[in-house]
Amino acid sequence: MPNTTKNVTEIIDLIENGLSKKEVELLNKAFVFAENAHLGQKRLSGEPYFIHVFETAKILAKMGMDIQTIATGLLHDVLEDTKTTEEEIQKIFGDDILFLIKGVTKLGTLKYRGHERHVESLRKFFVAMANDLRVVIVKFADRLHNLRTLEFVRPDKRTRIAIESIEVYAPLANRLGMGKLKGELEDAAFPYAYTKEYEQIEEILKEKKDVYEKNLSEVQRELEKELNKNKIKVVEINYRLKHKYSLWKKLSKREMDIEKIFDVVALRVVVENIEECYRVLGLVHSIWKPLPGRIKDYIAVPKPNGYRSIHTTIFTGNGGTAEIQIRTKEMHAEAAYGIAAHFAYKEQGNKKVSYKIQNDLSKFNWIEELKELNYSPDEPKKFLEHLKMDFFNDRIFIYTPKGDVVDLPEDSNPIDFAYSIHTDIGNHISGAKINGKMSQIFSKLKNGDIVEIINKKDAHPSTKWLEYTKTTIAKKHIKSYLEKNSLLSKLKSFGQS
Ligand code: MN
Repeated sequence: MPNTTKNVTEIIDLIENGLSKKEVELLNKAFVFAENAHLGQKRLSGEPYFIHVFETAKILAKMGMDIQTIATGLLHDVLEDTKTTEEEIQKIFGDDILFLIKGVTKLGTLKYRGHERHVESLRKFFVAMANDLRVVIVKFADRLHNLRTLEFVRPDKRTRIAIESIEVYAPLANRLGMGKLKGELEDAAFPYAYTKEYEQIEEILKEKKDVYEKNLSEVQRELEKELNKNKIKVVEINYRLKHKYSLWKKLSKREMDIEKIFDVVALRVVVENIEECYRVLGLVHSIWKPLPGRIKDYIAVPKPNGYRSIHTTIFTGNGGTAEIQIRTKEMHAEAAYGIAAHFAYKEQGNKKVSYKIQNDLSKFNWIEELKELNYSPDEPKKFLEHLKMDFFNDRIFIYTPKGDVVDLPEDSNPIDFAYSIHTDIGNHISGAKINGKMSQIFSKLKNGDIVEIINKKDAHPSTKWLEYTKTTIAKKHIKSYLEKNSLLSKLKSFGQS
């Protein structure tokens, strides 16, 4: 007998593209199976355990994930917390779903205890990501629901989970372009991870929120009128308040002065196509004066995590400023769900698709690179440094003269760029043209630069290169070159390496 009043239709209603009969059957089967498997189990909140997996599945449905991932959401705790066996799952749901549940279960046994554990959890995440990214996305949804019910958890455990969410889960979600999920994870964790700071933000917002919103709703009304007059079809227009945790992070870099932050509230205009995005921008600037230096065209030059949109900040005329973000529907979905949006788009073809990351999503090839990072269990700190450098740092996009794009950590130079193309190109770099101008090989690159590498046969790495390069891959090749040419051992005696 069902022990909750929940109904599978609540999940189905969230799925935008509709389901085939077979898919509805699968979902139904997973629903009934999970409900029975968790029968009698309760969460710390006193609610039936099933509510947790049900809500996890709903989060996945909202993200536009495929049906197997949503079913895995329902089933993700049956192996760990019930008597269900792997054989049963395999027989009823098949290999694919069994693989996903096992993946989530493995990730679930992680415990966050300071830096070393932190590193270990990240490593497990990367391996899971490279195998099947959907495992990680289910884990995100699971974590998000756990965070939303965190008040019922013991205080010490609560803090651990909250901090881990901010330090491990959120940066990962961000790196995958899942901006909305990142914000939701951080905001759910924020009050438990940093209670005092959270209260401080609440206080600041309480004071300013109304002013901001009034300001923005006036801008919205006026803009809507103009858009209408110019016959630009608006898919969506609304404003959002910046996520609290990211507001706090930004404030703490700006002496906690909220007047120094321009995007506390932002107006979002979603239109049909790219051409209209630029028309809207033109219109906005013809009504209001833009703040110099605040016009950002992430459509022409996307952010390294794939984010696309046009941002501009305008003087509203009554002493205030407002940020306006302009984008298409597709960009809007991608900004919210990042890599998950790619799964959703692919599903629309209604073909059987492989979700193995290797086969697609080449823009996320850094996942593969990460697996190659040398990890020695004795040196977790070193591994973490590499990660911070290669992974969690902001990234820039650099173009080859042919327009191919290479994704590098911020402050990389032409040497990093050269090695990311080919070892030989790196080993023989003698100069570089940045945007057509001859430049030093140690010059810092900026997002959007076009870089042409000049090679010379007799050029080769020196120890100085090690100091200036940012990527692990460049350092690795430089070191190995130097070692091979036994320069490194000679220099070691001078204490320079
Ligand atoms: Mn769970």
